[in-house]
Amino acid sequence: MNICSIVSTHDELTLSLERHRGQSGSVNSFLVQTIGIDIGGTKIAGAVVTELGEIVAEDRVATEAGDSEAIIDAVVNMIERLAKGRDVPAAGVAAPGFIDVAQSTVYYTPNISWRNEPLRERLRERVAIDITIDNDANAAGWAEFRFGAGRLVNDMTMLTVGTGVGGAIVSRGALFRGGFGAGAELGHLRIVPDGLPCGCGAHGCIEQYGSGRALLRMANEIADVGGIGLALAETRKAHDGLTGELVSELIRAEDLGAVHALNQLGYWLGQACASLSAVLDPELFVFGGGVSVAGELLLEPIRESYRRNLPARGYHPEPEFVIAELVNNAGVVGAADLARIHLRASRSL
Ligand SMILES: [Zn+2]
Repeated sequence: MNICSIVSTHDELTLSLERHRGQSGSVNSFLVQTIGIDIGGTKIAGAVVTELGEIVAEDRVATEAGDSEAIIDAVVNMIERLAKGRDVPAAGVAAPGFIDVAQSTVYYTPNISWRNEPLRERLRERVAIDITIDNDANAAGWAEFRFGAGRLVNDMTMLTVGTGVGGAIVSRGALFRGGFGAGAELGHLRIVPDGLPCGCGAHGCIEQYGSGRALLRMANEIADVGGIGLALAETRKAHDGLTGELVSELIRAEDLGAVHALNQLGYWLGQACASLSAVLDPELFVFGGGVSVAGELLLEPIRESYRRNLPARGYHPEPEFVIAELVNNAGVVGAADLARIHLRASRSL
């Protein structure tokens, strides 16, 4: 179900929304609109979002990845463009990396040279509305929980399987950030002692076994062996190398070698989920990111591996495994909703 169909199932809310559309909202009204900004590696996306997760305006610009000051300028300009002519009381900014628990300082961001950057203050100096910042995977997970695949549960764990592996945890209806704000970095859960080196400095993280990059490595290994890897090897030769898109095409065509690589990926992700269940016991695991377009072909080996590795299996209800629903907009929708919640909490103090 997408956001529009959620709205259509809530006739009263929809009517109320229609009646009030165009009127200015206040923080106490039902109809607060907030801005969500998602700083990605290649683009900065922004949107004005209603409390129902509905996007009413959008914007995007390319990210100047090497220039952290240019990124701040771009975010300020985007907030000003989106807020123009609207009563928008707050903006949430989602960024990759570690964010402190007060949602104000970026401890560390890969690809952007932010180190202990007081991003919230930097933005507040330049825009008139309330600012909150959050980790991008947390924002995407929160959007899934509120408006997507997780809207019917209280406890949800999301794994974003893109180039790397991101994570978000919702427990008892609240986003889990940890004591210092850097929790839920599920991509760096160790699943192989002394395993492959990871960009984080440790070894054996799930990011090295369950990510899009890992899928590509596995596909290349299968291509090297021949046999079921023949189509992978031929594709690699024809295109001067395999890409995520080429492997995805072969998976869609149910090529045995490509599906075998996906099964290996699912095996490791299922192991990680079994360990996560022992700690978090979620009702639902949600998978987002580029690799999740494989759908059931990804979920089946995850379920199988999970069942094989779950501690005390058979004495415990099993969670559901599903694909994320808000594929492209999750970051901005989640960041906007978190900004609204943060503003409401700060005004009720
Ligand atoms: Zn790691």
